[in-house]
Amino acid sequence: MYDWQKPFQHLLNLLFPNCCVYCKRSGSILCSFCLTAILPLSPPFCDRCSGSLNQNGKCLRCTAPSFILHRLFVSSRYQEPLRRCIHALKYNRQRSLSQPLGHLLYQTYQQRCIQADILIPVPLYPQREKQRGYNQALLLAEYCALFLQLPLQPQLLRRIRPTEAQVNLSGAERRVNVQGAFQASADASAHLLGKRVLLIDDVCTTGATLEACAKPLWLSGALEVNALVLASPH
Ligand SMILES: [Zn+2]
Ligand SMILES: [Zn+2]
Repeated sequence: MYDWQKPFQHLLNLLFPNCCVYCKRSGSILCSFCLTAILPLSPPFCDRCSGSLNQNGKCLRCTAPSFILHRLFVSSRYQEPLRRCIHALKYNRQRSLSQPLGHLLYQTYQQRCIQADILIPVPLYPQREKQRGYNQALLLAEYCALFLQLPLQPQLLRRIRPTEAQVNLSGAERRVNVQGAFQASADASAHLLGKRVLLIDDVCTTGATLEACAKPLWLSGALEVNALVLASPH
C-alpha cells in the first residue's frame, strides 16, 4: 500500500523547516525544551549493558551466554520525546535530527568515560539503504565521531543479507534472524588489530543485532567491541 504520510510529511518539512518534531514549536528541529526532556538513564542499571535490573538486582540481557559485547552504553530509555525523534530520523527523512541526537551520543560517551579507537555504525542492507536514502546509524556516527574527533570506518563492516524487521520477533528469533548477516571487509584486520571498536546504532532491544556485528569484528582482531546506542526500551 502506498504510504501517503511520506509526501505529506515531506511537504510539511518544506513548509515548516524549523519546527520541533515533537512539540511543533518553531525555531529548531528539536527544541531546547524537548531536548532537555530526554533524560539520561537513572540508576540502578546494569554497569555492563545499561539494562534494567530485576528485583534481585540481576541483569537479564548481558548475563545471557550470547551477549558477546564487551560493554553496551545507552543514552536514554526508549520513551517520549526521544522515541518520536528516532522515528522521525528513520522513517520521516528528518536527517537533520542526527546532529542533536549525535550530540546526545557524544555526551553519553563523555559521561560514561567510554574509550574507543574506531567508530563503526551498524550497516543497513544496501537495498534498504537505497530505499531510505541514508543509513540513520551512519548519520549519528558521523556527528558523534566529529564531536569526539575519532576515526569513523563504516566500510569495515557490511550487511551481507537482508533481514526481517526485528520488532515482532522473540529474543531467540532475533538472534537467528541476524546470525551471519554481517561480514567484516577483507582488509578489516589491518585496521582493527588491537583496537577498541565502538558500534553505533539508534535503538537496541535484546542486543542481537549488535552481537551479530561484534562477532566478525572480533574475528578480525579487535581488542574490544563495545556499543553505544541512543535508546533501549529496558
Ligand atoms: Zn519541542
Ligand atoms: Zn547487563
